[in-house]
Amino acid sequence: TEIEALCKLDYRERAVSIMGKYLDEFSQEELRAFVRDAYSNNYDCAEIAPTKFLNDNTGVLELWHGPTCAFKDMALQMLPRLLTASLKKLGETRKVCILVATSGDTGKAALEGFADVEGTSIVVFYPRDGVSDVQKLQMTTQRGENVFVSAVEGNFDDAQTGVKMIFSDRDFAKKLDEKGIFLSSANSINWGRLLPQVVYYFSAYCDYVNSGKIKMGDEIDFCVPTGNFGDILAGWYAKKMGLPVRRLICASNRNNVLTDFINTGVYDRNREFFATISPSMDILVSSNLERLLFMLSDDASVKGWMDELKTVGKYDVGAKVLKDIQADFDGGFTSDEQAKVCINELFKSSGYLMDTHTADAYAVLADLRKAGESFPTVIVSTASPYKFADSVLEAFGEDSAKSGAELVSKLSAVTGTTAPTPLTGLDSREVRFKGCSAKEEMPEVVLEFLK
Ligand SMILES: *Cc1c(COP(=O)(O)O)cnc(C)c1O
Repeated sequence: TEIEALCKLDYRERAVSIMGKYLDEFSQEELRAFVRDAYSNNYDCAEIAPTKFLNDNTGVLELWHGPTCAFKDMALQMLPRLLTASLKKLGETRKVCILVATSGDTGKAALEGFADVEGTSIVVFYPRDGVSDVQKLQMTTQRGENVFVSAVEGNFDDAQTGVKMIFSDRDFAKKLDEKGIFLSSANSINWGRLLPQVVYYFSAYCDYVNSGKIKMGDEIDFCVPTGNFGDILAGWYAKKMGLPVRRLICASNRNNVLTDFINTGVYDRNREFFATISPSMDILVSSNLERLLFMLSDDASVKGWMDELKTVGKYDVGAKVLKDIQADFDGGFTSDEQAKVCINELFKSSGYLMDTHTADAYAVLADLRKAGESFPTVIVSTASPYKFADSVLEAFGEDSAKSGAELVSKLSAVTGTTAPTPLTGLDSREVRFKGCSAKEEMPEVVLEFLK
């Protein structure tokens, strides 16, 4: 079968093969060149996205060996190559400005992906109170002539709303057009971002087969730490493309709006927002869910639900769509306390160190296992533990009241593990971006940068 053929390839060739099926506008040679650039020595391991096995029925797919130490590199190292190549093919003469609202990891990954890419510029807004110290330093020390970074007062949803307002502002678009610039997003709903993510689901399956722990054709589960529903949506596409997946387990933190949705069919954002130790999943409006609903329903219904989400903050997809969702998805959530216990216990029992987001997925899976589940499952590991060193140190009962750079060296000392190079020496880099703006000021900030 085609999957058997993939098993014999390395990660890069798996990517060429899978992306080639869905991107007709590029030749194999072009794709191979993009893949070679996107996944090369900017990754700190030759396997790019290795699957490590904790036991026969639990694998951990590590997606954080790239330049920013989180899974978003998998897509955002590829996206600028696909985007600029396809703009060239379309004969676009204007420059593209990428506008991003980030809960932390997207922003840095997009900055790394687009830094000094010809014909592009990038502006990133992050919530002042919603990213870790390490994440903030990673962004504010970003190199590149075409990049700009600003904090926004409020949480991720505020930053996201501000960006959405800019995207829907016609006058703003006109002003940019006069300068020969147009806006594009790197956030979520972008095939050039989803497709590179589909690749690693296939790749993890191949790794599982190659390990000898399952046979070709056997189904597996994936347990995915989720906030914006982008990563897990790629898993759903992989399943629809024919990957033997039984179900996708959507793991949330205390902001469990998606768990409730998967269990009841009611999406209700009218609830308290919690800042957790897995900040990249602190989201109440999961943008990519809309795309799943489009696939399972019709345009008019989805439009109605999205309107209700805007006006009353809540919608109900009804029994039929719920049944389809539950055929592919299961959901669970966990607490900060439980996630920390998992980090601590797993490290002590096996020496495997995981970050807080991965720990949410691990904890949700552990609950299912306590209830008697033993199905072969791949936990999708989305960040290096060093990226969230403060909370990981707390899991070991260590003091976390230190600067980001100190935390990184301390975690290394406490666990006897090595910090990834991109996260060392953060304190010796120049902080280039110190500003913070209110939501209303965001358009001006962008214009000022593009002046
Ligand atoms: C973005 C992110 C997530 C959530 O992924 P979504 O696809 O947005 O749901 C989880 N963990 C980490 C470390 C992330 O950066």
